[in-house]
Amino acid sequence: MNNNIRIVLVNTSHPGNIGAVARAMKTMQLENLYLVNPKEFPNVNATAMAAGADDILAKATVTKSLQEALHDTKIVFGTSTRFRVLQLPPLNPKEAAKIITNEGKAHEVAIVFGRENNGLSNEELEMCNYQVYIPTDPIFSSLNLAAAVQLIAYEIKMTEQPNTSFNSSPIELASSDEIQYFYQHLQQTLLDVNFLYHKNQDLLMAKLKRMFNKTQLEKKEVSILRGILTAINTKTKSGLPRKTKNVSLAMTEKE
Ligand code: SAH
Repeated sequence: MNNNIRIVLVNTSHPGNIGAVARAMKTMQLENLYLVNPKEFPNVNATAMAAGADDILAKATVTKSLQEALHDTKIVFGTSTRFRVLQLPPLNPKEAAKIITNEGKAHEVAIVFGRENNGLSNEELEMCNYQVYIPTDPIFSSLNLAAAVQLIAYEIKMTEQPNTSFNSSPIELASSDEIQYFYQHLQQTLLDVNFLYHKNQDLLMAKLKRMFNKTQLEKKEVSILRGILTAINTKTKSGLPRKTKNVSLAMTEKE
């Protein structure tokens, strides 16, 4: 994950929020936390709310001014719910994440978050290149500080790693051959149990195939279905070659 991204919190009042921000950052693989004049830090409530992200708190940099926290950064994003007279180019989190990810490859980038009670001052926003606004209900637009950090950190993660999903092991889909063998096995079995007759088999098989073709059958699912058919074959002592129309049976091929 990108190490050039720093999260800067200005004058945070509630130490619990600092902990919650550390947690939000760690879940999204961000690690550089800067605290400008926090009211109380370190603090047990910060540690409690970090819920295991203590390492982020332990290496957080505490500074006396925003300028100090922005030292060495090239691009600064100020987050705010309010629109100012001299408006910076406003971005939503997705748009901001694209620039942050891109610029973060070469430069130090900071994302600045304001006070719980009154956000960032005009002077502080004047130190930023962009303003990020998280779209909300216009008459109730203020997110909890850590929630705002979480949302922006998530967008950065999704921009950097767009293909991340919960399932890390890719699902193996059944091959066309495997599906055709399954259809042949199904047809033969349904004939054996007298569900299909020579007259109706084409239409019913076409409908069954269409039903299965709507899903992307996985290799394992086809194997379960073939297992069920084999169990039926064993019970009914069926599965013996019978003539079906237009189908060359592959009943002898290995399960
Ligand atoms: N009452 C304050 C909001 C404080 S919320 C105000 O009027 O500005 C604390 C911080 O969370 C804000 O300073 C900002 O950094 C961030 N934040 C909360 N909601 C946000 C939103 N909708 N868009 C952008 N940042 C937001």
